[in-house]
Amino acid sequence: MPETKKPDRNSAERRLLCVVAHPDDETFGAGSTLIKYAAEGVSVYTACATRGDVGEIAEGSDATPETLSEVREQEYYDAGRVMGVERSILYGYRDSGMAGTPDNEHADAFVKVPTDIVVGRMVDTIRDIRPHVVITFDEGGGYGHPDHIHVSKAAKLAYFAAGDPQYAGSKLDPREPWKPSKLYYWGFPRSIMRKWLEVFAETNPDSDMANLDPEQMGVPDEQITTVIDISSYAETRRAAIAVHRTQYSPLDLMRSDEMAAEYLSTDYFIRVDPPPIDGDSEMGGEIEHDLFEGLEI
Ligand SMILES: [Zn+2]
Repeated sequence: MPETKKPDRNSAERRLLCVVAHPDDETFGAGSTLIKYAAEGVSVYTACATRGDVGEIAEGSDATPETLSEVREQEYYDAGRVMGVERSILYGYRDSGMAGTPDNEHADAFVKVPTDIVVGRMVDTIRDIRPHVVITFDEGGGYGHPDHIHVSKAAKLAYFAAGDPQYAGSKLDPREPWKPSKLYYWGFPRSIMRKWLEVFAETNPDSDMANLDPEQMGVPDEQITTVIDISSYAETRRAAIAVHRTQYSPLDLMRSDEMAAEYLSTDYFIRVDPPPIDGDSEMGGEIEHDLFEGLEI
């Protein structure tokens, strides 16, 4: 079972919430950033929308399509423990599958859940945890996964709604309003996606992924506001990745030591709130190197 320790609302502790769609997104995405902040004493929380019901099943895992959601749920909690996550929250919606697959149309698919319902759940979580910083996917969901896009949109709305006393949340678990201080999208810079897809297409010319359009993936480099050095946490990250046994490791998928080293050395974010002023990025301003930069807690 996940930790259920309640945050002390009056303490000066720093709190961070990462909102994702599938068990593994919290680890394969901004995992090293979560590990870093947990190691530095920040209380780190994750909220995951689905149980990853229709994901792939990697060779060597003994999960079946029938047990996959149960196994992935456990992998999510176990990876959270490896990363030092305080509490791993799961909403339990049904995975909608990759874009264009029949699972998108399943009556219980997460993408079919109205945005305001999802926002209500997320507002409850934000008011309960009272995070200073919230992280989620960029608007394109990294690579267009419909669940990632749904989560990104709902998390942004919830981030702003949670502080609004007029907003009732889901009404299942009413709490005091709480406005977090900063919202970030995590994303791969497009220049890195381009490089990686080139390497991947060379080593796997027959794979469907070799035909992906890099211009539809990742985020434009010039939108990056925040660059975090995560190189000290590669070992813990590898351990957390290994916990997701049902999923193919992104490190294996990269087929390139150079790309894997890049993936384990730096995380990139777009600051959504407070919005970047002209010059926050490569337009000439300062790049942030800490998600809590400028906050007095
Ligand atoms: Zn995902």
